[in-house]
Amino acid sequence: MSADAVVVGSGPNGLVAAVMLARAGRKVLLLEAAERFGGGLRSAELTLPGRVHDIGATVMAMTLASPAFRDLELKGVEFAHPPVAAAHPLDGRPAVLVHRDPRRTAEGLGRDAGVWLATAGAAARAGLPLIDLLLKPLGPWPPHPMTFARAARFGLAGALPATTLARRAFRTVEGRALLAGMAAHSVLDLRSPMTAGYGLMLAALAHVVGWPLVRGGSQRLADALVAELRSLGGEAVSGHRVRRLAELDAPTVVLDVTPRQFLAMADLPAGYRRRLARYRYGPGVFKLDWALDGPVPWRDPAVAGAGTVHLGGTLEEIALSEAEMAAGRHSPRPYVLLVQPYAADPSRGGHTLWAYCHVPNGSRLDMTEVVEAQIERFAPGFRERVLARHAMGPAELEAANANLVGGDIGGGLASLVQFVRRPVWSPAPWRTPLPGVFLCSSSTPPGPGAHGMGGWQAARLALR
Ligand SMILES: Cc1cc2nc3c(=O)[nH]c(=O)nc-3n(C[C@H](O)[C@H](O)[C@H](O)COP(=O)(O)OP(=O)(O)OC[C@H]3O[C@@H](n4cnc5c(N)ncnc54)[C@H](O)[C@@H]3O)c2cc1C
Repeated sequence: MSADAVVVGSGPNGLVAAVMLARAGRKVLLLEAAERFGGGLRSAELTLPGRVHDIGATVMAMTLASPAFRDLELKGVEFAHPPVAAAHPLDGRPAVLVHRDPRRTAEGLGRDAGVWLATAGAAARAGLPLIDLLLKPLGPWPPHPMTFARAARFGLAGALPATTLARRAFRTVEGRALLAGMAAHSVLDLRSPMTAGYGLMLAALAHVVGWPLVRGGSQRLADALVAELRSLGGEAVSGHRVRRLAELDAPTVVLDVTPRQFLAMADLPAGYRRRLARYRYGPGVFKLDWALDGPVPWRDPAVAGAGTVHLGGTLEEIALSEAEMAAGRHSPRPYVLLVQPYAADPSRGGHTLWAYCHVPNGSRLDMTEVVEAQIERFAPGFRERVLARHAMGPAELEAANANLVGGDIGGGLASLVQFVRRPVWSPAPWRTPLPGVFLCSSSTPPGPGAHGMGGWQAARLALR
């Protein structure tokens, strides 16, 4: 097929770019290496027949908040909200709960109620304009002066390491642990700058749009985007890995790949090649999916209503486990990020569950025992509920999706340096030196998450 634009890779970024280009009247060809479209949005029966598991993203807060998805106004995708956005169980105390309402969340934090409202609550009050700015860090500028002022205020706290903000501003075990659990989504050492910002932004998202999931599995969002592309006359081909750019014949090429793959597929000017080669990947994850015969038997029953659960105990423990990971070691008591979709969506064929812990990039260690031990710690009897399990270490994750280099699910380290140099320092990092060739993956701003904003930015540049 001759096309005006070829999009390589069908993760949320590639799909958003493809649909935007097709809506602008371009004839689009989408090529995907895997047998199913979706990248990080894919779902599959990983354990037992009829059990729907998300291989990657489940929690769609960024999708719901994303300017790209708001623009697209997709039909036929239903979001389901769990009664509680997130829970953080603690040994010998009630779990901390993150509700949609910041005040209700603050009530559970005792002496830290005020500081929660002044940090995460303030970011939530700034609302979607602030989130838009964070998801579109490179414009269009200038933002509204009020948004700019709120962003500056957010930046003061957000620029800090999570450990610093937690110890300076928060007083309670609960408040400190909650911030650590949120910040650890960044897959960084919590002593690193900006980790407080990651945590506060995620908390603000829980208050502004919630932490919902797609009813029936994230695959439905990918399928809706592919259907939209096809309805606009675009062609989508799966099971087709692009190895060299020279294979493609179109004036516009949008690549949903990370720098390492781009380096392998293109002849690039030496300077740009050197800059791309400096790009750093982050730690990997070890992910487990389970089919259960009933809900997880949490010691604190309030955790049952949460879509997402942060396991790892106190700030000190979580900070230690993330420091171990950043130093290239495996923590014996890792921070575990767990998602129980059945809390919001009973349509996935029964009680399915997933969790991952962070491991050094490319790790080959089987972390099943330590992850399950962390769950048992807060939910004694969990293992007796397991009907089947499925494990994916970094090698399996990368085999399923070449963008997960060494098991890095963020498309590159989310450090301060790579916040501004993603993948290169440029006012339009989606553009490459090759005419008509754009990068759109999570290795471009604003980075990881199922928001599609890399695709949105690349498509806008391509259409200009
Ligand atoms: C286990 C896990 C849990 C996650 N949980 C969440 C979550 O709850 N919420 C959230 O917002 N985010 C989550 N994420 C992150 C989110 O999935 C990613 O940030 C997002 O999918 C990145 O989108 P992308 O379009 O850049 O790339 P991807 O979604 O990674 O897609 C890239 C696609 O390109 C294809 N491809 C690569 N190379 C080629 C080639 N040469 N030729 C053809 N096709 C190619 C791949 O097969 C893949 O389909 C999670 C990720 C993982 C892995």
